[in-house]
Amino acid sequence: MLALAAARLGFDVVVLEPEPDSPASRVVKHTIVAPYDDPAALRELAQRSQVVTFEFENVPAEVVVQLRALGVETAPGPRALAAAQDRVEEKTFLNSIDAPTAVFAAIDAAADIAPALAMLGLPAVLKTRREGYDGKGQVWVASAAEADAAFTAIGERPAILEAKVPFVRELSIIAARGRRGDIDAYPIGENIHENGVLRRTLAPAEAGAATREQAMAVARRILEGLDYVGVIGVELFELKDGALLVNEIAPRVHNSGHWTLDGCATDQFEQHVRAIAGWPLGPTGAIARVEMLNLLGSEIDAWPDFAADPAARVWLYGKRRARDGRKMGHVNRLSPLAP
Ligand code: AMP
Repeated sequence: MLALAAARLGFDVVVLEPEPDSPASRVVKHTIVAPYDDPAALRELAQRSQVVTFEFENVPAEVVVQLRALGVETAPGPRALAAAQDRVEEKTFLNSIDAPTAVFAAIDAAADIAPALAMLGLPAVLKTRREGYDGKGQVWVASAAEADAAFTAIGERPAILEAKVPFVRELSIIAARGRRGDIDAYPIGENIHENGVLRRTLAPAEAGAATREQAMAVARRILEGLDYVGVIGVELFELKDGALLVNEIAPRVHNSGHWTLDGCATDQFEQHVRAIAGWPLGPTGAIARVEMLNLLGSEIDAWPDFAADPAARVWLYGKRRARDGRKMGHVNRLSPLAP
């Protein structure tokens, strides 16, 4: 989707991706099939590109440093990637810029869990510090007696323990910062998760001015704090009193921003390309109300029904195999904006 947006603006895209026959490879000018940290591949990528970006935050941060050493710019920069790759660093950064999060503790061994639970209360969620997504590498801990089993369940890796946030809704704000420091954001989306995986986004979410302003202020502090260039996704928990806590940041275009493909004049993918290419940001207002539905695994087989619905816009990613729970595409169902 990024490559399609770039092509529409006249850019050639080169992809570095370990898997042959990836969805992106079928719509770009050139694909380098190699591990992300392959030195020859990085040299080729640097030589062919004016700017390098990523749509997956588990690219080794060292790769971004190497690309910069090879003389090619990356956006976002290594700082954003490093902050998003480690849940403890991420929350420490967020709290340092006055972006509130769940209360948390770093966990290096099973023995750290009981004292942390005493501070955070029960239940709490144990997550690996690195490489967790879509609820993977996480387990709820209901009592100190479960500490050993929980640490084993996440593979005995460095972890974070987070207090349970009693949220009433999950929201997200997709924001962008251009090269000149200009900042804009889309209307907030409301996100419904199932088993830790995003199922639906409703956007623009029903939210008052105070909520919108609070989300925008947090996004602005994050973008400026990271000296960020590009699109960022900020996942939020809304509490009963209206306060927002940041769950996590995604230094890239975000699944909860897929509604912008059909709901906004400039979608998040074009916005990201505009930002990293040094263009002015495009308008972010909604032109329709959208219910975005993720198609997981074999749900994609129902595509003819979605395709027959005149209110639905179907996006299929062209992934060759539909493993259980894998995001295979999404559908944006459009309705008029409330007057
Ligand atoms: P994550 O991968 O950290 O975004 O977590 C996936 C989902 O688990 C979130 O979207 C929430 O629905 C839930 N979750 C994660 N952390 C917490 C928390 N500290 N309190 C309550 N729910 C959580």
